[in-house]
Amino acid sequence: MLQTSEITSFSSSELLRTLKSFPFLADYNLALYSRPGGIVAQAGPIFDCFVPLHATSLCGDSCRTGYEESARAAIDSGKTSVFRCPAGILCFAVPFRFSGGNSFCLLGGGVRENIFDLELLDKMSAASSLDPFKLIEDMESIPAVSMDQLAQTAERAGKLLASLHEGNLYAFMLEKTLTRLEAISAVIRQIGRLDTADDAISLFSETLGLLFDFPMIAVGLPLSDAKGFCLKGTWGLPRELGILSGSHLPKFNTTDGAINSVPLDEPFRKILGGVKAEKLVLLPLKTDRELHGIIAILDCELHPHESMLVDLLMAKLAAKLAQLMRDTIQQSEKAANERLIKFISSLSLTENNDELHQRILGFAAELLHADSGSLMLIEEGGEKLQIKAVLGLNEQLAKIISLKIGSGIAGRVAATGQPLVVVDIEKDRRTAGQNRPRFKSKSFISVPLTLRGKTIGVLNLSDRRTGAPFTETDLRLLTTFAQQASLLIERRHYLERASELEQLSVTDALTGLYNRRFLEKRLDEEISRCKRGNASFTVMLIDIDHFKIYNDICGHLAGDAALKKTARLLGISARQMDIVTRYGGEEFCVVLPNAHKKEAMLVAERIRRQIENEPFAYEERLPKGKLTASIGFSSFPDDGQTLKDLINTADIALYRAKARGRNRTVVFEPAMKLPASDFPTNHTYSLTTLYP
Ligand code: GH3
Ligand code: MG
Ligand code: MG
Repeated sequence: MLQTSEITSFSSSELLRTLKSFPFLADYNLALYSRPGGIVAQAGPIFDCFVPLHATSLCGDSCRTGYEESARAAIDSGKTSVFRCPAGILCFAVPFRFSGGNSFCLLGGGVRENIFDLELLDKMSAASSLDPFKLIEDMESIPAVSMDQLAQTAERAGKLLASLHEGNLYAFMLEKTLTRLEAISAVIRQIGRLDTADDAISLFSETLGLLFDFPMIAVGLPLSDAKGFCLKGTWGLPRELGILSGSHLPKFNTTDGAINSVPLDEPFRKILGGVKAEKLVLLPLKTDRELHGIIAILDCELHPHESMLVDLLMAKLAAKLAQLMRDTIQQSEKAANERLIKFISSLSLTENNDELHQRILGFAAELLHADSGSLMLIEEGGEKLQIKAVLGLNEQLAKIISLKIGSGIAGRVAATGQPLVVVDIEKDRRTAGQNRPRFKSKSFISVPLTLRGKTIGVLNLSDRRTGAPFTETDLRLLTTFAQQASLLIERRHYLERASELEQLSVTDALTGLYNRRFLEKRLDEEISRCKRGNASFTVMLIDIDHFKIYNDICGHLAGDAALKKTARLLGISARQMDIVTRYGGEEFCVVLPNAHKKEAMLVAERIRRQIENEPFAYEERLPKGKLTASIGFSSFPDDGQTLKDLINTADIALYRAKARGRNRTVVFEPAMKLPASDFPTNHTYSLTTLYP
């Protein structure tokens, strides 16, 4: 048999809701009166049937007093009674008692008779100065029953309570709990399959609304700046509600199943706008320690055994939101990584150090939506950091500042090689009291630039555009980028060093021959030497015929191989004392000291024939089926007395060799300077003219 304590463990509101679920009581507003406790629960606005009258206090408190009197009378007499409230609303009072326990009375109301008592309405309107027609309209909106029906309903309610009294209530509740549990486990599976947070929240709210009769539900998701929640109505409320600041949230206590009833004070009322509500329960959507959102339920009675079911559903929703969040982060990280790869390949084309540093910083800032930042590199001595690029700070000023490694924020990152993400620069104990530039926002991030475990610099970002602090995700992204950026900085450094070295070198990388710089130096020396000793020498220019076509048809690799081979042949065919150089492209220059034109002609022809006879890869594809070269030469002092004149006259002879059909040697003669029309204007031949 049911004990009194059990009615409270099931909750009186649960009992009322159970009673309301019987169709014959569905139209009635119900309340539960207990002998010592007074009204302990109510379903529907039983003391508030007439909204306009409530304002004149005809309903409300005065009704409540009337109801309570009737309840006490019913309990005292042990008899069910039916009565009219002062406004003419029909009511019943059904006393009942659980074994050995307190006496209760079920109060029903909120229905009217079929026929209105117009006289009463008239009096009421006069007393409350309300429009009589409005009163009639209000009266009409209430369900109508006959006095007989009212008496029957009261009697059935009495019997029902007696049967519940005999133990059915427990079974009934248990069954209801099991049905709910079944529904909840189906919904949990369904939530698991959904793809968006919106869908999951909708299904969750719908389930709570239908299964637990919650009239109004709102869900708040965290704002991107983590300072509050954006509250949206998801059941029985307008969609757009407002922002709930984090400071208004209670300290959630979920471990002991306690319900977080929150006073409906000003901030909440403001968010709810015109929505009328009396009570608010706030529940956290938590996984481990992370808060993914909040659930606000209005005007609900949530008993501990119900709240366990709600908790189950909430745990699933929280897990789903966490999973969706992880997915979103992963996707955005993937997209950012793809952008990173694209950007890095574009960076590798950067012309110089300054541009590279500026672009690295610019991209890092873009990646993390930051407005300010700097890129610093450790100076040669390894003791100071030099600012190489700045964003959002005074460039001139920043560039003259150098920081000591170990001091300041960047200095510490450089010294330890450990990145630093600070949410609030003023509160973080690692940075408190640091001497630092003024930033607009309080969060910043600083990562080391490292190469093979050695720190070479620091990348700093601050002033995030959204105002939100930098996160661990940002740190992961920036660290990945910093690794690539370090490699680019190193590569550019090597390239600059290589071009510096090339400036100093005298050999050509492809052929191993002396280069033009060396040639010019040697020619100057040769001219001085010959001037002093009245000696002579010859300058020979060798140009491969149709080499562009050879490249086009056979490819650049074959072209390179042909250049190397030609260089080797020149070495073999030239005399011991001759200086063989690569003049540029597919042109070579050989200086033949002490050689007159006759002797030079022998050497030149030997070279030309060697090239002609040498097999070159794919040369059969050329117009003449052979790779050949043309040669022109001139001598000091007859054809020129300066470097420029000698090269020029040798070039004129070479052009003449081309004009005469190529694969030949031509000696410069003074008459060749005129007429110019004798020379081909452009000795580049298109494939179409050669292969019509
Ligand atoms: P011509 O008989 O009139 O000299 O015609 P050409 O095609 O040889 O002359 P042109 O000056 O138009 O073309 C020279 C070509 O040599 C163009 C360029 O692609 C090629 N070349 C220059 N340097 C190199 C090199 O280092 N490697 C390769 N593979 N090709 C080169
Ligand atoms: Mg050429
Ligand atoms: Mg050529």
